[in-house]
Amino acid sequence: MSLTFDLHSHTTASDGTLSPAQLVARAHAAGVGVLAITDHDETGGVGEARAAAGPLGLHVVAGAEISVTWNGGTVHVVALNIDPEAPALAQGLAEVREFRQWRAEEMGRRLEQRGIAGAYEGARALANGRIISRTHFAHFLVQTGRSPDVRSVFKHYLKRNKPGHVPGRWAPLEAAVGWVLEAGGQAVIAHPARYDMTAARLRRLVGEFKECGGSGIEVVSGSHTPEDVRLMARLANNFGLSASAGSDFHGPENPYVELGRLPELPPECTPIWSDWSLNKAGHSCGPDPLRREQE
Ligand code: AMP
Ligand code: MN
Ligand code: MN
Ligand code: MN
Repeated sequence: MSLTFDLHSHTTASDGTLSPAQLVARAHAAGVGVLAITDHDETGGVGEARAAAGPLGLHVVAGAEISVTWNGGTVHVVALNIDPEAPALAQGLAEVREFRQWRAEEMGRRLEQRGIAGAYEGARALANGRIISRTHFAHFLVQTGRSPDVRSVFKHYLKRNKPGHVPGRWAPLEAAVGWVLEAGGQAVIAHPARYDMTAARLRRLVGEFKECGGSGIEVVSGSHTPEDVRLMARLANNFGLSASAGSDFHGPENPYVELGRLPELPPECTPIWSDWSLNKAGHSCGPDPLRREQE
């Protein structure tokens, strides 16, 4: 039987609702063999995830989902197989988190001006000392009865041009990819079909990303339709990029899809893991998954 790869997931280290150990247990139960922990701008969940994964024989890929500002909009870059301690990456992510903290306070001020008091404090309490994301604001606004669900909070308060939105000043694309490479990892454009971009602009993004040293794009994502998968497979192949697959799981409450429950990569794609070995990730935890796959 072939291994199941899920290379995009969130824990309580960012805006996920499961702890790293809980996430690993759930992934294992769902049949995932290789799980990347890709918290927003944060690698703090990886250690706990690895400790939990060892006895289960599940392979944890150290990752992050880096917030990037490109062409005035926000793009997410998934980093895989990074050394979380690599200095440029650690420093770069620390700076991104500093902006994130300022943005959360600014979001609180803007919402306050619109008559919504205590949103920053509420989001901060939900984040419980970890990074504060818009998701935490969304949960607070649902809990306080401002909106029926998270999706509608985004629609009415948190999207671009809405009262609580603060334009991003995240990492430049070239810098983010550079940090990933310096950390020994591979950079992947997250959920490319989800950006509010024309096809021409998306091609420009992918071209620049490749020039910076990017390795792949998420062809299969929990938030992609079958048509998106076909289009993104073609895009990856046109640019000579590898293909990644990840659920973008944030917790059992409202997942795009369950961990590991992803369609296969289209056969014409080159999987981003085609040349992986456990040694590349710099640690060992159980049998080499690639060898098992060949058995
Ligand atoms: P941030 O990085 O703080 O701007 O938050 C981005 C996160 O918000 C994403 O990773 C998603 O988890 C969540 N998100 C973004 N847009 C939506 C939406 N329309 N509905 C629900 N969650 C969303
Ligand atoms: Mn998120
Ligand atoms: Mn994302
Ligand atoms: Mn994500």
